[in-house]
Amino acid sequence: KINSPLEAYKYLPQTNCGECGEATCMAFASKLIDRSGKTSDCPPLVKEKKFAKKLAELDRLLAPEIRQVTIGAGEKAVNIGGDDVLYRHKLTFFNKTKMFFDVADNMEEAALVARVKQIAGYKKFYVGRNLLLDGVAIRAVSNDPVKFAAAVKKVAEVGIPMIFCSFNPAVLKAGLEAAKDKNPLLYAANKDNWKEIGELALEYKVPVVVSAFNDLDALKTLAKTFAEAGIKDIVLDPGTYPTGKGLKDTFTNFLKIRRAGIMGDTEIAYPIMALPFTAWMAGIADPVSASYWETVMASVFTIRYGDIMILHSMEPYATMPEVHLAETIYTDPRSPVAVDSKMYKVGNPTADSPVLFTTNFALTYYTVESDLSSNGIDCWLLAVNTDGIGVEAAVAGGQLTADKVKDAFDKAGFDLKTAVNHNTVITPGLAARLQGDLEDKLGASVKVGPMDSGRLPGWMEKNWPP
Ligand code: SF4
Repeated sequence: KINSPLEAYKYLPQTNCGECGEATCMAFASKLIDRSGKTSDCPPLVKEKKFAKKLAELDRLLAPEIRQVTIGAGEKAVNIGGDDVLYRHKLTFFNKTKMFFDVADNMEEAALVARVKQIAGYKKFYVGRNLLLDGVAIRAVSNDPVKFAAAVKKVAEVGIPMIFCSFNPAVLKAGLEAAKDKNPLLYAANKDNWKEIGELALEYKVPVVVSAFNDLDALKTLAKTFAEAGIKDIVLDPGTYPTGKGLKDTFTNFLKIRRAGIMGDTEIAYPIMALPFTAWMAGIADPVSASYWETVMASVFTIRYGDIMILHSMEPYATMPEVHLAETIYTDPRSPVAVDSKMYKVGNPTADSPVLFTTNFALTYYTVESDLSSNGIDCWLLAVNTDGIGVEAAVAGGQLTADKVKDAFDKAGFDLKTAVNHNTVITPGLAARLQGDLEDKLGASVKVGPMDSGRLPGWMEKNWPP
């Protein structure tokens, strides 16, 4: 394993040809180490035969501690695993927890298709991006290969990654025949069926879950047996218990597996599956309560170290916290989420409309934008480049100054004296201390807005027009 650009540099052609888009091989080596670049981005290394050995060795040395496994095929395929650290702040977590929602092969066809379309079409806009669900897990409730294959065909038509859920090899084989080249994840091989399921994984070249409930030695033995048979894409299911000591054991198992994998135990260095929707929850009469506990479990194992999970409740109060939490935990701490620094139109602003500014930290920008647009306030909103830092911290840290605001207006080509007819700017309340400097630099009247953008509508009623 290599951890420094200097070590990676030794394996590169060292010609500084620039074909990778970097000025030097050393700069490219840095990208390899922080995983913003791949060896395949260096054409000479890939194309020239004399570098073949170095390329193979470099790929081996750069491989993440936890194996990355791909599920599905084509554009919608998803990756799980691929992590190198136990704690996010040490680098970042890669490959956000993937959320597959279940259907059963004994559902009425119309209901099955409707649920699959609901899963595939799920979209939640959040700080400039759409949060999506990742795939469909098909439960072989019928235990009938023909019925299971029919359900698989229906789901496959939607073109979304799939997990096939059955301990019956004949059922899984029927599913694999019905969805050739779709690269589904097989769930699962256990102590009773491992031989047949292992053969299926090898024959169809698909990833597979090995499952041993609350028995890490058995889980490791299964994974080792599969790896020795040539199966590389393995996912671990140590069992998920929802309550009491069982929950504590489950949590401890997840920690032990991930710690061992990161510390170099390659026999167990695979992604982990969590199953937040359990038989216990299925027995809860009140569906809201069942959804609540499912979401609690999903949250626990998003934080510690579930790479993929099968979920059931599609209620917004279940899915929204799940997708938001995964997005938050897997945000790269090395680069704050930022929007482009420029002048944005909110609604249909005119020369009479107010002009506001905020920072380019995505969470701040979209909060302000949403508070304005949802209240029908047409205006001009300037996002000032503060390296993705929020208003209060940016003022304290010197990333948000009168000079920076002036610079942002200039770069946006927005002249307050000609673009609007009031020559007035509204500053965030948290940047009130910039008011005097801003008036000097901008040559404009500066009004101090509220501390919280949620109060902008009320503030506008009292203070606008100026
Ligand atoms: Fe170096 Fe390869 Fe980049 Fe050329 S393409 S500069 S050889 S890393």
